[in-house]
Amino acid sequence: MFCSKCGTEISDEAVICVHCGASVGQPETKPEAPVAEDKVSIGFCILAFFIPLFGVIYWALKYKETPKKAKACGITAIVSWVLNLFLSVIISVVYAVLMTSLM
Ligand SMILES: [Zn+2]
Repeated sequence: MFCSKCGTEISDEAVICVHCGASVGQPETKPEAPVAEDKVSIGFCILAFFIPLFGVIYWALKYKETPKKAKACGITAIVSWVLNLFLSVIISVVYAVLMTSLM
């Protein structure tokens, strides 16, 4: 093809003219990949809270795609897991205390 600015014959694959430096031809426009919405989703957080395993898996799988959303999910899952652990310890302690006081 020929440069549209100076008329020098240039390679068909050339993006800029080697002679005058003008950009030639169609600049390669890559079709923009649909960007996954990276928003902290309340629904996902609630789901992660009740099913911590889901949150952790989601975090692991989607960390690159939607880091914010995945992180929120993962953190919620961990918080939920810690809370569950904490609650179960408290419940078992209370239960043990009640049992010993009843006996
Ligand atoms: Zn040129």
